[in-house]
Amino acid sequence: MGCYLSMAGISNTIIEKANHPRPHVGESMVTSSTRIFEEISFLKTMEETGFVKKYGATWHAPANRGKFSIEFAEFPQPGIHQDYTYHVDRGKFDHQLLKHAEDMGSIVVQGVVVKRVLFEDGRAVGVRAGFGNQEVDMRAKVIVDASGRGTLLGRQMRVIEKDPLFNQYAVHAWFKGLDKGDDHTRDHIHIYFLTVERGWVWQIPITEEITSVGVVVDKSVFSEFHSDIETYFNAQLQTNANLAHTMRHAERINEFKSEGDYSYSLTNFVGDGYLMIGDAARFVDPIFSSGVSIALYSAKYASERIVRAFEMNDFSAAVFKPYEDRLRQGAGIWYEFIRLYYKLLPLFTRFIANPEYRLQVLQLLQGEVFDRSEVPVLDTMRKYIETVENASSHLFKPQLADIPLD
Ligand SMILES: Cc1cc2nc3c(=O)[nH]c(=O)nc-3n(C[C@H](O)[C@H](O)[C@H](O)COP(=O)(O)OP(=O)(O)OC[C@H]3O[C@@H](n4cnc5c(N)ncnc54)[C@H](O)[C@@H]3O)c2cc1C
Repeated sequence: MGCYLSMAGISNTIIEKANHPRPHVGESMVTSSTRIFEEISFLKTMEETGFVKKYGATWHAPANRGKFSIEFAEFPQPGIHQDYTYHVDRGKFDHQLLKHAEDMGSIVVQGVVVKRVLFEDGRAVGVRAGFGNQEVDMRAKVIVDASGRGTLLGRQMRVIEKDPLFNQYAVHAWFKGLDKGDDHTRDHIHIYFLTVERGWVWQIPITEEITSVGVVVDKSVFSEFHSDIETYFNAQLQTNANLAHTMRHAERINEFKSEGDYSYSLTNFVGDGYLMIGDAARFVDPIFSSGVSIALYSAKYASERIVRAFEMNDFSAAVFKPYEDRLRQGAGIWYEFIRLYYKLLPLFTRFIANPEYRLQVLQLLQGEVFDRSEVPVLDTMRKYIETVENASSHLFKPQLADIPLD
């Protein structure tokens, strides 16, 4: 956001409570991010830093050691000249992006917490920030809440809607000594299905030696497992044969971290004088590595409306609303895809193996769909699920999850 505003000649200040670099979850990207990096002249830094290149994704079935892969090169995106994206150490990546925003013109203040957004007559006019023991009020024409899952404004205004379907819980850490094999999928993101419903594990290479591994399950699965975190984590790893093999000599090199309660939406993403972007607006389940891409695109689209607001000298919700509609639609497409995916896991495998649908599924996986009419494959998936539901007997029927389609 800072980069886009500076490029438009709008002075801006980024207030960040952490002192970067700091660790963060969300380490694997989708290719649509490249377009934003190019637009804000950040791609060169990504390349020079030497982040691990991600050419595709591989999924592993729990039982029979079966696996299947996709390569981004199969579905080139117009205007994007790379057939790969990146896996990142978020400490490094976020720090560099922040420095880049500063180089482009943002004023960056670190180690300062925004306590609340200040309103006058229902319009956001500034923030109250804590500098050490002091509180300082800072005024601005537009306030952008980019506070991530902290959802500063969402909590202040009490407008967070918890996701009614997904209550996933993740435990993750970095490891050394994985046996990643030596074929072309070595540096893919690997997703391993577990035997518990909606359970999966990510394997994301951070460097040649270090790999991030995270176990994601429905919160109830974790709560019912009465044991220490290490035993829980290792027990889940054993439920997928390929994963157990990959991890057999792995050694954990940092503390386990956990993330819960992370799927929600806000009732509104904009108001008079303010907008919310990234996770501060909406968070969908991370199964398809969509979070950073949604955050980047939300900044791009929100900044376009802010530029328009300056041109019109009108900072009302009405001017910002087209941004909200667009982001809602884009995140809604991800959400629908994730819902259909969890509803009937074999469907995803089947569609990706079908030449008629493979490219559309790939388009979804690359993360640049903000128009629902571009992906009729979602309707076809829906119809397929309905057929399975209504059949008196069907091979996939026992695998239907208890998730409503709408
Ligand atoms: C288990 C899990 C796995 C995930 N895996 C992936 C993945 O593989 N790929 C992917 O793309 N995404 C993934 N994500 C999602 C990804 O982490 C987020 O979508 C992404 O980081 C959102 O970026 P953001 O800028 O909106 O928020 P953040 O990156 O969280 O940044 C928010 C910033 O605001 C600062 N802040 C917060 N409150 C205040 C305050 N009051 N005052 C000042 N500063 C404040 C924070 O310090 C932070 O630096 C995952 C998420 C989870 C939970």
